[in-house]
Amino acid sequence: MLLYNSLTRQKEEFRTAEPGKVKMYTCGPTVYHYAHIGNLRTYIMEDVLDKYLRQSGYDVLRIMNITDVGHLTSDGDTGDDKMLKGAKREHKTVMEIAKYYTDAFFADCQKLKIRRPEVVQPATGCIDDFIRVISALLEKGYAYEAGGNIYFDTSKLEQYYVFHDFREEDLEVGVREGVDADENKRNKADFVLWFTKSKFDDQELKWESPWGLGYPGWHIECSCISMKYAGETLDLHCGGIDNVFPHHTNEIAQSEAYLGHKWCPHWFHVLHLNTTSGKMSKSSGEFLTVSLLEEKGYSPMAYRFFCMQSHYRKSLVFTWENLDNAAAAYKKLLAKIGTLLHEGGTADAAKKDALLAAYYEAMNNDLNTAQAVTVIYDILKADADAATKLAALAEIDGVLSLDLIGGAKAQAEAAEDAQSDIPAEVLALVEARKAARQAKDFAKADALRDEIAALGWEIRETRQGTQITKKA
Ligand SMILES: [Zn+2]
Repeated sequence: MLLYNSLTRQKEEFRTAEPGKVKMYTCGPTVYHYAHIGNLRTYIMEDVLDKYLRQSGYDVLRIMNITDVGHLTSDGDTGDDKMLKGAKREHKTVMEIAKYYTDAFFADCQKLKIRRPEVVQPATGCIDDFIRVISALLEKGYAYEAGGNIYFDTSKLEQYYVFHDFREEDLEVGVREGVDADENKRNKADFVLWFTKSKFDDQELKWESPWGLGYPGWHIECSCISMKYAGETLDLHCGGIDNVFPHHTNEIAQSEAYLGHKWCPHWFHVLHLNTTSGKMSKSSGEFLTVSLLEEKGYSPMAYRFFCMQSHYRKSLVFTWENLDNAAAAYKKLLAKIGTLLHEGGTADAAKKDALLAAYYEAMNNDLNTAQAVTVIYDILKADADAATKLAALAEIDGVLSLDLIGGAKAQAEAAEDAQSDIPAEVLALVEARKAARQAKDFAKADALRDEIAALGWEIRETRQGTQITKKA
């Protein structure tokens, strides 16, 4: 399988240290608020990768952290603690906020059919691990104490900017106005491993450490949680593109300094979901959550379908019109699949494999889900029996998780239920009209249509047959 690697900036054959096994790490949510659908795009595409690796025969161990401490409002080390901000906003404790939004995150994942990783580890559960690794970094000379905090010394590395060739002055961009540069840092790129002194002295959660009462920085948690469950190396590390710097750059710096060897050879990053005015965020524009989509009448599956239609390495632009188009296409797709459901028969395995060849080719080429969606339509048009087509679609859906068969069944049943509400008088007129049409007596058919309309019902000929709906 060819998979793009952000570290080498090219598509390469995906390999693992141990044949057949993948140790995969995913940066989890900071649980201070609901995830917006832009965050969730990343988790959806990581889910596709996870499931496709399994479908390809790998045994996957997937690890995810939950950030419930240490993530400040800037991804550098400045600003308020996000968790504390959430707690203040809602007049709750930090741990109450963490519990509530962790549950909310996994509820959204369930709606979007995102599989829960084998390991889900909150950062507050690993404080001893952080202290142990930070102590070792100090001992090895990769960290220093200044002004009460422990910093990672990026000048000790041969190469710090592993993903891009950043210039130091570009780092200023991440610093928000009104936030003073940290005078304690020896080098601009240095970052905090452990805080005991912050401008915000009302931090709720603090732990004893060799450096005083304090709390961990954000970056150290992912390195430590990964090593705790996967050992000294990973095969694959995933996240949103905005995590490349500083978060993932810092993860690599501290992990490799601690271990004394390379840590993770393959990095998978999902591009942004943008609005027409730029990158989606919680603070600007409409706060788009799964619940909001549902309130507006969209199924979470329509959003997943919208994501599948685009490659993960392309920015995706969200507009309501784009989502409408995806939702309509998804509904139509389910209706087409619905027509296969009653046909019966048994699947022909060889023919099914032939239908799926294009799907595997698409997915083996850097997880091209947009192409895989095209294959779904090709299968529906193909010269094959219904059972074979359904078996092929089920196999694709094991990875894309669009609820193709279940959704088609539910949609067909809902349509049948709607039909059953039609009064017998109307149904009799519909039958009479059908007979008139078959007899090519179109004048009579039109008259019957008018009669049906007078009773408050509308009749439409579609590719799925005659549809009768109550007039609005
Ligand atoms: Zn992380």
